[in-house]
Amino acid sequence: MARELTDKQKLFVEKYLGEAELNATSAYLMAYSKCSEAAARRNASRLMTNADIQNAIKARRKELATSLNITPEKVLKKWWELATADANDLVEYRRDCCRHCWGIDHQYQWTEAEYERAQSEASEKGDDSPSCSGGFGFISTRAPHPECPECQGEGRGKIHVHDTRRLKGAARELYNGVHQGKDGLKLLLRDRDKALEQVTKILGMYESPESKARIEQMHKLEVEAKRLAIAKAAKDLEDPNNLGLPEPKQIIIGVEDASLPDAE
Ligand SMILES: [Zn+2]
Repeated sequence: MARELTDKQKLFVEKYLGEAELNATSAYLMAYSKCSEAAARRNASRLMTNADIQNAIKARRKELATSLNITPEKVLKKWWELATADANDLVEYRRDCCRHCWGIDHQYQWTEAEYERAQSEASEKGDDSPSCSGGFGFISTRAPHPECPECQGEGRGKIHVHDTRRLKGAARELYNGVHQGKDGLKLLLRDRDKALEQVTKILGMYESPESKARIEQMHKLEVEAKRLAIAKAAKDLEDPNNLGLPEPKQIIIGVEDASLPDAE
């Protein structure tokens, strides 16, 4: 029959599931009066083998999950979302037209404001106005002209980062902030492989090699399907800028998988 825990033991359970983040030694040091680290480790590990403490932890966990309405399905879904998120939802490599693609006779094409600026700079220096024989109306996000003599229809490569305030679902799970370093802006992504590992662990799928291979295959297919769907959507968009997203210019983007913070 379960005994009632002492106040200190109750506090230990609270700290263990709370501030101590499942570190029994830290929880012990928080709940009991000061003692050496070694003594705390010994006593904590003794407490953790106590059946009453184990039952209290189990009961408290259940209570916590109920109060926040957290179910294993919801947790699993979050991990699966992250495991199958597509980096293209955050950042894309695009190829758009060059200056000569859509100019008259494939001459350099300006926007009107650009040309005015270039003209006044030239007149300040006492130079002639630059040529505007390619005309105006340059749109940086237009597709390359297939017969452009300048870029041979390849266009110019460009990195486009989506507005992170608008990220939803899996993309939001994947996004882990930006880091401004000396090499430019670095986009941080959470680790999808670790998330997949977490999914297989929760489902007990690591136990047989066949099921492990099967879930890895499933994962590959789902990521590929998402990539194709996005590539198609991008193609369908006549004007990729019609979302009003800001166009990043002159930034260097490094994408890297950042480690997950230690999860339970
Ligand atoms: Zn071109």
